[in-house]
Amino acid sequence: TRALQPAQADRSKVYVADLESTVHYTLRVEAGRPAVLAGAQLAALKCYVATLAKYFPGRPSVQTFLQSLDSWLRNWTEPELPRSALKEAVKNKEDASPAAVLPTNVTWVGCRGSEPHFRGYPCGLWTIFHLLTVQAAQGGPDEELPLEVLNTMRCYVKHFFGCQECAQHFEAMAAKSMDQVKSRREAVLWLWSHHNEVNARLAGGDTEDPQFPKLQWPPPDMCPQCHREERGVHTWDEAAVLSFLKEHFSLGNLYLDHAI
Ligand code: FAD
Repeated sequence: TRALQPAQADRSKVYVADLESTVHYTLRVEAGRPAVLAGAQLAALKCYVATLAKYFPGRPSVQTFLQSLDSWLRNWTEPELPRSALKEAVKNKEDASPAAVLPTNVTWVGCRGSEPHFRGYPCGLWTIFHLLTVQAAQGGPDEELPLEVLNTMRCYVKHFFGCQECAQHFEAMAAKSMDQVKSRREAVLWLWSHHNEVNARLAGGDTEDPQFPKLQWPPPDMCPQCHREERGVHTWDEAAVLSFLKEHFSLGNLYLDHAI
């Protein structure tokens, strides 16, 4: 059953429907495009699914889906993975015990654009990776595997993201500074500040949804304490931004409203 779409989603919330729609789209649409996956592209898929299985805070049936796909991929040791085998592996197993189900439709809530060609999947992809960097920073030692999630995103975007121009821009940013990230906290902030760089570059352009202008995020009304002014110049209070991101992308801020 599909819930009614809200007139306007609450931008202070993160919606499960956006997250699940994005994971569905990555695994069943983008990863299913090449006839055969091999080499670095197959490694990128394995890495993406392993990261989701580790950190994605899904509903139980979604977590089961991701765990079983992860173990299936780990057991796939042949150099090539044909699309037909992947298609089979990403099917839902409703009758299994426990059930392994990732909804098969795409419903945008927080990521819904004012027109169908605006927002949606690219918004969901940013959201997923912000969420994953924050989830990775919530547990485990801060200095351990600081680049785990960012490298996963870098590889996913490089090998699968359908917007090639976006992928090239992102790869250039990653090559420039990602290796300077030394902790999981810094990984959260790296992704936040580079997403803001992209927002600044795209502001006022023709891919911008007029009802969702590109902002330096979070804007002052969402997080007044994140903003500072020093001698008339705007600066960020990065400690406040980190606390805000950890709260915004926390389990307590995930909403099932309008879930599929
Ligand atoms: P998005 O920018 O998609 O943001 C999604 C949500 O994340 C926002 O609604 C907000 O809640 C939150 N958010 C916003 N900023 C931040 C932040 N700094 N930190 C944390 N959360 C934030 N489009 C192009 O035209 N050219 C490009 O080169 C390009 N490169 C891209 C590279 C990547 C890796 C990705 C994932 C997308 C790229 N896009 C590019 C698409 C573009 O960035 C937007 O995703 C798209 O225009 C939809 O914008 P949006 O308004 O939904 O907000």
